[in-house]
Amino acid sequence: MSAETTLAALGLSSADLTGGTLTVTSPIDGSVLGQLHETPTSEMEAILAKSKAAFKAWRTVPAPRRGELIRLLGEELRAAKDDLGALVSWEAGKITSEGLGEVQEMIDICDFAVGLSRQLYGLTIASERPGHRMMETWHPTGPVGVISAFNFPVAVWSWNAALALVCGNPVIWKPSEKTPLTALACHNIFGRALERFGDAPEGLLHTLIGGADLGKALVASEDVPVISATGSTRMGRAVAPIVAERFGKCILELGGNNAMIVGPSADLEMAVRAIVFSAVGTAGQRCTTLRRLIAHNSIKDELVARLKKAYAGLPIGNPLTDGTLIGPLVDEASGAAMTAALEGAKAEGGTVFGGNRVTEGVPAAGVYMEPAIVEMPAQTKTVKTETFAPILYVLGYDDFAEAIDLQNDVPQGLSSCVFTLNMREAEQFLTAAGSDCGIANVNIGPSGAEIGGAFGGEKETGGGRESGSDAWKAYMRRQTNTVNYSDELPLAQGVKFDI
Ligand code: NAD
Repeated sequence: MSAETTLAALGLSSADLTGGTLTVTSPIDGSVLGQLHETPTSEMEAILAKSKAAFKAWRTVPAPRRGELIRLLGEELRAAKDDLGALVSWEAGKITSEGLGEVQEMIDICDFAVGLSRQLYGLTIASERPGHRMMETWHPTGPVGVISAFNFPVAVWSWNAALALVCGNPVIWKPSEKTPLTALACHNIFGRALERFGDAPEGLLHTLIGGADLGKALVASEDVPVISATGSTRMGRAVAPIVAERFGKCILELGGNNAMIVGPSADLEMAVRAIVFSAVGTAGQRCTTLRRLIAHNSIKDELVARLKKAYAGLPIGNPLTDGTLIGPLVDEASGAAMTAALEGAKAEGGTVFGGNRVTEGVPAAGVYMEPAIVEMPAQTKTVKTETFAPILYVLGYDDFAEAIDLQNDVPQGLSSCVFTLNMREAEQFLTAAGSDCGIANVNIGPSGAEIGGAFGGEKETGGGRESGSDAWKAYMRRQTNTVNYSDELPLAQGVKFDI
């Protein structure tokens, strides 16, 4: 299907797509998908006021009823899955199955959030005072600002929005300026769910179209108690102090530098498949992409040989063509960053396989790159830096403790894994002395997490957690309540204060 047909199917009219100042191009072939009208920063005040008004009404709607809105959103997403998945491909360059997979992730989080809407529970706690009951309750915070990156243009919004909305908060979304079309499509899909829901307050979702300045306005606003920001560590470094200054809460989902340790006992066949998917899938543009392979010296050469063989046959090209596994990088700057990182690695003693620009058999004007394998003598500065492209650095080790030290010795702490059939290594990897990442897997690659677990990472990855488990707590405020049903007024800690 053409981009025009897909956009029309998602309710984007030519008025939406023409006459604006934000030019959106497809990474597939550089074609212009639209010229969008940007949200003027002067409108922020009115948007914030509407969001605050929506909060006043939405916070008193029973949570299971709020869940009904998300149930309807899940239904609308199921109906729009093919079109939205295709638009993700057009706008972010993902292969068809990954575009569809991203929408499936949205559907999954909606299902999760519907169940959650009946489980926003707190504890009851034993009181030290007779005739007293103590408990904790969870309340919505107010408008949640969601800043998202280009590489998961729709899933990240849904992780945040589905949870924030069942928790009782309106959402103000600032999508990446590289992927505003998928955001507008989601806005329309959400609008259809709202219509069917019937009596939701106006202003539950605002979608801001434009660049970092809009994000900055959102971040600075005292009317937005929670900011969930997904993107580069550089962006997180700018956002976090501003939110901290006004005592807001941040959920930061920033860059990763994910590793796999492959032990001498590993099932190499499985390891190769996991490495290839997680290192080259989404053309290396996942926050959880495998970037460092730490292989035991006894199997390293064999593993690298098998990987080179697999890499040599990888279909690179138009992501909408059946059979393609590697689509384009998002833009020229990403291609240039990849080339610069490979040059840097070479200067540090690395041996590079692949990494050239592909120009034959791919759409002109797209940035198509061969994925690269780089054998490194040590974990150098270049290896410690996240380059958002398909580069896999390979390091050797002899001792498992050394492998864990290498895995942890980077500024980022998102995802990690070990391939081993040795139970001692597997268990050690998951202990306090093992991986220091937010995600640690055994015999599974570092990318492609399920929504049921909390997602996020430590150190420069920002410390935020989203999606499953108890990540919902970040969108609520906790209140401790003590109720005295006796006719005495005892003080805690035995304090006497008789008047
Ligand atoms: P980016 O940092 O360039 O942009 C992300 C978003 O932040 C955009 O919407 C942008 O407009 C906004 N922004 C930029 N500067 C801002 C500022 N000062 N104040 C407010 N908003 C600002 O990131 P990108 O290139 O779109 O995405 C790639 C990066 O995102 C990679 O580093 C990747 O690892 C990371 N990422 C992390 C996760 C995660 O869950 N940890 C998920 C996806 C992507």
